[in-house]
Amino acid sequence: MKKKMILALLTASLCSFSACGKDDIGSLDDSIIINEGSLSENTEENNSAEISESASERGYVVTEVPTTTITDGENITPESIPEETVPTPETPSPVTETPAPPSPVTETPAPSAPSVIDYSPSTAAPGTPASTAVLPPDAPTESDYNYGAPPTVYNIPGIKYIDNVLIANKSYSLPADFYPELDQTCLNQFYKLQNDAAAVGLNIYLSSGFRSYETQDYIYNDYVARDGQEKADTYSARPGHSEHQSGLAIDVNQIDDTFIGTPEAIWLEAHCYEYGFILRYPQSKQDITGYKYESWHIRYVGTDMSYKIHNKAVEMGDPYLTLEEYFGIDSYYH
Ligand SMILES: [Zn+2]
Repeated sequence: MKKKMILALLTASLCSFSACGKDDIGSLDDSIIINEGSLSENTEENNSAEISESASERGYVVTEVPTTTITDGENITPESIPEETVPTPETPSPVTETPAPPSPVTETPAPSAPSVIDYSPSTAAPGTPASTAVLPPDAPTESDYNYGAPPTVYNIPGIKYIDNVLIANKSYSLPADFYPELDQTCLNQFYKLQNDAAAVGLNIYLSSGFRSYETQDYIYNDYVARDGQEKADTYSARPGHSEHQSGLAIDVNQIDDTFIGTPEAIWLEAHCYEYGFILRYPQSKQDITGYKYESWHIRYVGTDMSYKIHNKAVEMGDPYLTLEEYFGIDSYYH
C-alpha cells in the first residue's frame, strides 16, 4: 500500500494539467512505466485485500462480497451476480449481511446490477433506485465482448450517486478517506479499448488512474501557489472533488492539449462509449462541467450507462453529453 502511494505521488508529480491535475510532462515515459508496473501487480486478490485493508484502517465495516463482483467484468455470470443490495428509499435498511441466494438462471439474463460494498457503519445512506430506462438496442449484453459491468457501488455516506453512477465534480465531493484504487472492471475495459485501438495501428496508453485525496491536495495547492486559485480551478480539482479519487477515471497518453486532434484522440472520442467510458470534459462544455476541454480524460460508467448517454446525445444532436447534462445537475463550488 505504501509503495503504491509513493508511486502514485511520483506519477502525479511527474505530470501536468487538468481536473486531472498533472504537472511537468518531461518524464512522462517514466511515469507510464511506473504506473503500469503498479497496475500489473494489482491482481484481483490484492486489490480486494487492499480495499478491505484501507477500509478497516479507517474503521469501516467491510461486508464480504464475492471477488468477481468487485473486480472481474469479463467472467461475471448470472449466477455470480449478487442480488440488488442497495436499499430502496421505501426500505432504508442497511445492506444485508446475509448473502443473497444465487439468481436463477433464465434464458434472458436479468440486467446486471452493480456490486455493492458496504464500507460504512450502520448509518448507511439510502441508495438510488436503479434506472428503469430501457437499454438502447445496440448496447452490448453480458455475453458480448464489449460488455462492461457497472462499477462497484460503495455504500458510504457522503458519496453522491444518481442511477448508481458516482458523481464527483465541483458540486459533489468524495470523503477524504475514500481510497478505492482504480476499479478493476474499468481497467479491464480499458485494456479492451487499448487492444482494439492497437489493432488499427493506434497507441493508447494509460498515463494516470487512481489518485488519492492527499495527492490531489498536494497537486492542487501547488497550482494555486503558481497560478492563483481562480485559474487553478479551471484545470485542477480541489481535493475531494477529483474524479480520479473515484477510481473510475483514466487519463491517456499525453496529458495536455497536444493530444487534441491526434488520431488516438479522435478514435478515443468516437469509440470510448463502446467500452463503457464517456469523454468527461468535452469541448465547449466548460460552463457545464466546470473544467476546460480534456481530450485525454475518460470516465468509466459501464456499457449500459455509456450507451444510454451516447444514444441520448445522438438523439439531441450533441456529440458528447456530460453527466451534468444527462442527470440535470450542476458543477460549481458552493
Ligand atoms: Zn484526468
